[in-house]
Amino acid sequence: MERMIKRHDLIILGGGAAAFSAAIRADRNGAETLMIDGGTIGGTCVNVGCVPSKRLLAVGDQFFRVANRPFPGLHLEDGWSAEFRAVIRSKDRLVADLRKAKYAEVLASLKDVDYVRGQAAFVSPHEVKVGAERYEGDKFVIGTGSSPTIPPVPGIDKVDYITNVEALSLKDRPDSMIVLGGRALGLEFAQMYQHLGTQVTVLQRSGRIVPEEEPEISQYLQQYLKEDGIEIHTGAELLSAEQRNGRKVVVARVGARKRTFEGDELLLATGRTPNTAGLNLPSARVEAKEDHGVKVDSEMRTTAPHIFAAGDVIGKPMLETAAAKEGYIAAENALADRGLKMDYRAVPHAVFTNPAVASVGATDAQANADGQIRCECNTILLKQVPKPIIVEDTRGLVKIVAEAKSHKILGVHILASLAPDMIHEGVLAVKHGLTLEDIIDTVHVFPTHSEATSSRPSHSSRMRTSSVAAPCSRARGGWSAERKLDLSETTRTRHTGRAGRQPKSANWVSEAFRTCSE
Ligand SMILES: Cc1cc2nc3c(=O)[nH]c(=O)nc-3n(C[C@H](O)[C@H](O)[C@H](O)COP(=O)(O)OP(=O)(O)OC[C@H]3O[C@@H](n4cnc5c(N)ncnc54)[C@H](O)[C@@H]3O)c2cc1C
Repeated sequence: MERMIKRHDLIILGGGAAAFSAAIRADRNGAETLMIDGGTIGGTCVNVGCVPSKRLLAVGDQFFRVANRPFPGLHLEDGWSAEFRAVIRSKDRLVADLRKAKYAEVLASLKDVDYVRGQAAFVSPHEVKVGAERYEGDKFVIGTGSSPTIPPVPGIDKVDYITNVEALSLKDRPDSMIVLGGRALGLEFAQMYQHLGTQVTVLQRSGRIVPEEEPEISQYLQQYLKEDGIEIHTGAELLSAEQRNGRKVVVARVGARKRTFEGDELLLATGRTPNTAGLNLPSARVEAKEDHGVKVDSEMRTTAPHIFAAGDVIGKPMLETAAAKEGYIAAENALADRGLKMDYRAVPHAVFTNPAVASVGATDAQANADGQIRCECNTILLKQVPKPIIVEDTRGLVKIVAEAKSHKILGVHILASLAPDMIHEGVLAVKHGLTLEDIIDTVHVFPTHSEATSSRPSHSSRMRTSSVAAPCSRARGGWSAERKLDLSETTRTRHTGRAGRQPKSANWVSEAFRTCSE
């Protein structure tokens, strides 16, 4: 027997970043709100996503750095070991603390928001059911997140594979692991486990890892990960998977060769699928896209005018920050009809390996795609920047894509240990249409990694150690996915064209950009 419970101004489906952001706005609007959450409160990010993965990456990074790359003069007399179970326990405590502080206590403070646990499904445009209960709402925000995509590899359903959920809570550290997927999640898990002592093999379908990033970044990052000991195979076509005596076996065609890979664990990191399957969207007249994500406009409104959606459930970019912003916009537009729009141009993203990747705005290829913009780019190697030299952290680069005539910054792409913190200057530049000169004119702290994108008046000419500048694809034929990185080539750009010139401005960015654009 189904029961109807009181009508709410807003019903939010989900209990993660998007849902919480919507709930906080709804409470501030004084709306009678119901949150229906089928998972652990807080959703993916705090429980099985950003928080635990960044914790374990940091632990692995510290362990690996001290064991393998200590500063000269430091000696580990008695060796150095990682107690895996204790590492996981401390991660669990952190997750529990943050879940309580950032979600459970926040929810308790929202006086107009009720909370129900369970899986919700629409039964009509204004009603959802959870088990035997029915709930009626004027407006809705769908924020049901996403789940790991299982690749269609023959035999995979008979293998005890793991996803991000299990990989963050293994009882024992495996000796070996195969990771399917060479994008953000796959590489983060690969380096996390490699740093903790597991032998990791990454199989990536496309021709390079992190294929949406600048080719230089893919290439350098792959080189660094290999130096860490990770085996990486790109262009790998997965043919089959099976389990033999508990070991996981994957057969793939790599180039012209059929190869067999074996590991103690098989981790799937081949993308995420929006959680829409159980929502019965047609009964609410909400349409989904081909990738199963809910179709929304820039105001987060679905094809049903009173139903909004936010977060991973609408598809890419699938970031915590985007989910929270979308949830806020969805709730404000649903309840106050404010006409707020989501602008993705300046939404940054990161891959938290070491060195990490962080990007915002257009890549070189995107800026040149339609031939409308004449852009110029430069690539600055971190080994030219004082702070990375000082702390022996010179792996990486900064690439700036700018409009040739106006010098307006269109995109910033960083590979550096501190890239996720460095990117925000680029975010502001892209968001507010700043030029290279705006950045150059701004005084920054010396010495910092951020000098790779900023003004540094008095040190550049003294400390410059090598040349820069990989030109933009259209301007000089530049980078393509196929082209291999050749450091001597970047040096040649300088030597043949401008050897012996004195910089007009003692500044990394201006000098590098001039090298590229003149
Ligand atoms: C390993 C990993 C690392 C990540 N690292 C980062 C990072 O460093 N930075 C970053 O920005 N992003 C990161 N992300 C992405 C980020 O976690 C997500 O983009 C974000 O958590 C999405 O929030 P959401 O509210 O849309 O969904 P979720 O947080 O997934 O919340 C959705 C909730 O809805 C529940 N639900 C599902 N169906 C129903 C239903 N029918 N009824 C009711 N409830 C339902 C789910 O159980 C879940 O609890 C990471 C993701 C993973 C997997």
